[in-house]
Amino acid sequence: MNKIALFEHPLKSTPLVPLSGQYGDNRIWIKRDDLIPFSFGGNKARKAAEFYRTIMESDADLVMTYGSNCSNHCRVIANLAFAMGLHCHIISPDSKEEDSYNRLITEQFGATVETCPVAEVSATIDAAMETFRAKGNRPFFIMGGGHGIEGTRAYEKVYEEICLQQLEYGTNFDLIFHASGTGSTQAGLTVGHLKYLAAGKTGPKVIGISIAREGKRGREVIREGIKEYLAADYERFYRDQELIFTDRYRLGGYGNYNEEVEQIIGKVMSREGIPMDTTYVGKAFCGMQNYLREKKITGKNILFIHTGGTPLYFDHLKGLS
Ligand SMILES: *Cc1c(COP(=O)(O)O)cnc(C)c1O
Repeated sequence: MNKIALFEHPLKSTPLVPLSGQYGDNRIWIKRDDLIPFSFGGNKARKAAEFYRTIMESDADLVMTYGSNCSNHCRVIANLAFAMGLHCHIISPDSKEEDSYNRLITEQFGATVETCPVAEVSATIDAAMETFRAKGNRPFFIMGGGHGIEGTRAYEKVYEEICLQQLEYGTNFDLIFHASGTGSTQAGLTVGHLKYLAAGKTGPKVIGISIAREGKRGREVIREGIKEYLAADYERFYRDQELIFTDRYRLGGYGNYNEEVEQIIGKVMSREGIPMDTTYVGKAFCGMQNYLREKKITGKNILFIHTGGTPLYFDHLKGLS
C-alpha cells in the first residue's frame, strides 16, 4: 500500500471564520472543515484520515463502500483508495438524476460503480463482498458516510480541536451546530462534549440539524454510534439530555430543499464568500437560523461546522442555469 504523507500526521486545525453579515441576534462563526486539504475536504475527508490508518494496518487489497449519486463520501474514499494503490468498488442505489460531479470525480479515480434498486443495496453489498473474496481479494468495507468507530473518532478529535481554538481565538462558544446525516459526526462531537462534562469542564453544546432522518430513528443511530465507540465506558459518560438532534428542518427528507435554503446560500456566498450546498450545509445552516429564531436564542456565540460538499455547490449552479 502507498502511504499518503498528509495522513501520516494528525490533521492540522481548520480555520474559524466570523461572519460579517447579520444572521439574527447571535454572533456566528463557521469552522471551515470544507477546507481540509484532501479531495475537496469536508467531514468525509476528516473521517478518511482515520480510515487511512485502519486500512494501512490491514491486509486489504480493495476498498468497498456505498453511497448515492451525489455522495461526498464515495468521492473521498475513491480518492483515498486510488492514492493508496487499492481498487475501489462502490454500490449505489439507482438514480434518475444525471451524474453529479462527485460521481464523475469518483469514476475518474477508477472506482467501479455498481448500481441497484435502493431496497437491494444491502444484498448487493453482501454479494459483491462474497464475489471478491471468492476471487481471492481481501476487501475492506466502509459503511456509507464513513459511519463507524473511525468516523466517530474523527469528530471526537474535532470537539477537542474546537475547545483549544476557543483559547487561540479568544471566543467561547455556547453552541455548535452542524448538518447531521448518518450520525457519526454528531456521535463524535457529542462524545467530545460528554468527556468534557465528565472531567468537570464546560464546553459548547452540540446540536445536530437532521438533513434526512426523522427524530426517533436519527437519535437511535447516533446513540448506537456513541455506545459502540465508548463501549465499556458508555454508562459512565452517556447523558441522554446532551444528545440534541432535531428533525424540524429536514423538509421531508434527504435532498429536499426550499427557496429559503437557496436564499441563505446566496447570501452566505455573496456576503462571506463561502459556498454551501443544498443537501447538507446550506440546508442545516438555514435550519440553524430557524432554530435560533424559534427558540428565541440571542446574544450567544455560535459555531457552525461547515462539513463540506463543495462539488455539490457546482451541481446546483448547473441546475440554476
Ligand atoms: C456526510 C455529510 C454530512 C453528514 O455527516 P454524518 O456524519 O453522516 O452525519 C454533513 N455534511 C456534508 C457535506 C456531508 O457530506
